Amino acid sequence: MTKKNSEDIIIELKGLTKKFDENLVLDHIDAKINRSEVITLIGPSGTGKSTLIRNLNMLDTPTSGSVIVEGQDITKIKDKQLDSVREKMGMVFQSFNLFPHLNVEQNISLAPIKLGKWKESEARKKTESLLEKVGLTEKISAFPKSLSGGQAQRVAIARALAMNPDVMLFDEPTSALDPEMVGEVLKVMQKLAAEGMTMVVVTHEMGFAKNVADRVWFLDEGKIAEDAKPEQFFSHPNNPRAQEFLGKLL
Ligand code: ADP
Ligand code: MG
Repeated sequence: MTKKNSEDIIIELKGLTKKFDENLVLDHIDAKINRSEVITLIGPSGTGKSTLIRNLNMLDTPTSGSVIVEGQDITKIKDKQLDSVREKMGMVFQSFNLFPHLNVEQNISLAPIKLGKWKESEARKKTESLLEKVGLTEKISAFPKSLSGGQAQRVAIARALAMNPDVMLFDEPTSALDPEMVGEVLKVMQKLAAEGMTMVVVTHEMGFAKNVADRVWFLDEGKIAEDAKPEQFFSHPNNPRAQEFLGKLL
């Protein structure tokens, strides 16, 4: 087991603020994420979960404040430098976004080959080992349209892992799936967490939040209204909106 070192901050948010016109979605958020931590981001629809996760890798630009990744304020950099920070942060969305005209092997190996991270000669082996991780070795030559939603999402995870990221960001990775496929995707994510991957996961899967997360962040009115260990959060949340939110799930 890798010991989690509480001093090893991988992402720090300082006064992170995001407005869309007059709509203040993130309101001076200060937070720290330690290496190997798993954070689940929960809260009602429209509270800014996607906005927060998109601001972590500058997919969306903050209105003000800083996002410091491995010591570097990424709100202050652009172009090539920003690309290389983004490579360290794998992202998985609700919609799998696989390239439809490429097979599974090509979907996974395209970016690492193009960016010189993989030699073409080693791509097959590396792809196979990623597919083994997500339990899909037999699908290496399949095209996205022949995959189930759960399989496609596992390929999307493998594709993100191909860049050898330090952090994985997930925005409702199982929300578009048929219920019977949710488990296979969560299992892959749980395995990643156990291997020590730093993860930020927006999810409505409270079982995942309870069993896998180190901390739960509950978003309300532009703030992390509650930042707690899952045991604490699910047994007695302090924030009234969190209580209400959990009450509705029962
Ligand atoms: P969540 O993921 O928690 O459902 P979002 O982050 O998607 O919430 O949205 C938070 C708020 O920001 C909502 O009021 C939404 O309408 C607004 N919003 C999100 N993206 C944009 C955008 N690109 N342009 C304008 N408003 C946006
Ligand atoms: Mg969202």
